[in-house]
Amino acid sequence: MGSKVFDLIEKERKRQDSTVELIASENFVSENILRAVGSCLTNKYSEGYPVERASGNRGRYYGGCEVVNELEEYCCDLWKQVFHTDYHVNVQPHSGSSANLAAYLSVLKPGDKILSMSLNNGAHLTHGSPVNFSGKLYQIIFYDVDASGRIDMDNVAELARREKPDLILAGASAYSRILDFERFSQIAREVGAYFMVDMAHIAGLVVSGDHPSPFGLADIITTTTHKTLRGPRGGMIFGRPELAKKIDSAVFPGCQGGPLQHIIAGKAIAAEEALTPEFVEYGHQVVRNCKAMCGAFLDMDYHVITGGTDNHLFLLDLTDTGLTGKAVQDELDRHGITLNKNCVPNEKRSPQLASGVRVGTAAMTTKGWKEADFIEAAKKIDRIIRQMPR
Ligand SMILES: *Cc1c(COP(=O)(O)O)cnc(C)c1O
Repeated sequence: MGSKVFDLIEKERKRQDSTVELIASENFVSENILRAVGSCLTNKYSEGYPVERASGNRGRYYGGCEVVNELEEYCCDLWKQVFHTDYHVNVQPHSGSSANLAAYLSVLKPGDKILSMSLNNGAHLTHGSPVNFSGKLYQIIFYDVDASGRIDMDNVAELARREKPDLILAGASAYSRILDFERFSQIAREVGAYFMVDMAHIAGLVVSGDHPSPFGLADIITTTTHKTLRGPRGGMIFGRPELAKKIDSAVFPGCQGGPLQHIIAGKAIAAEEALTPEFVEYGHQVVRNCKAMCGAFLDMDYHVITGGTDNHLFLLDLTDTGLTGKAVQDELDRHGITLNKNCVPNEKRSPQLASGVRVGTAAMTTKGWKEADFIEAAKKIDRIIRQMPR
């Protein structure tokens, strides 16, 4: 070996093996996925798409693509099976953010109007934050959450009727409740807007049936592959068949060059894994674990945003404790527990400090943790927080 890089990789492996990983957006991939993403496929250029697709896009721009064509087709077919869908799928986006960029590009023009949730209330940067391309290229209207932190669907309907957005977006990074895709899609249909779902966080729970599926309701669906889906770091876009050409052109040549075939290989293995009964059981266990841990915090009188959880994460509001999210994140880090600070609805502090922390159970469930382990971790976190100086 003999490179500093391998020493660092070994150090990171030890860190991952020895800490308690509660970052809601992280997970641990299988050895097979690691092998695929570390393979010779990284050497191959393959701009374009595998076949003369129904979407009318031309094929590849380089020779030598026979094998990767087969691979990418296989990957797409598997993901359609995973979600039981005839939607078109594009597996080339390099990340969740790239998937969102391409999704917007496929159906919107700069200056068009998006109705979405704000970062403070649990959405992602790419949902219209002013510091992100989404907030710079599009007109953004944010819908509200109610006093408990749940999305106020009447407010969504009211804003949709008044503002006539071109696209309505549902999906979040720090939201612990079921998203009402039915109601969102009704509202979008009523005002003639595209309905887009960003299921980056919950995609694995859609697979296991622990969260309702957006397929059949949304026009476009984006996701990451590395969160609850437990695949390699990357993104995907699904769309109604009639949007296939628009989506493919938006990804390439719209905003990307050559796809990462080693990552597409990892995505295909993630799909094979998602098709197993073990993965369905995994999703159920993630949610059971999350409810158990969240319940332990509620029993210890912590303030949980929305008062509980339906999925793989929850948000502790630390306002009453007098501690910032950052202080708690840093102190837990010193005790080998990894999570992240997070803004809470109606946040008074800067995002650098924040008044809450986000807790997720997807990663440690992969390591085999059950309810009792998460309850014990909650008690340990409570003891650490109590000892912190105010
Ligand atoms: C994580 C996330 C993304 C972005 O994913 P990256 O791969 O980090 O770019 C997009 N949308 C939501 C809702 C997310 O949670």
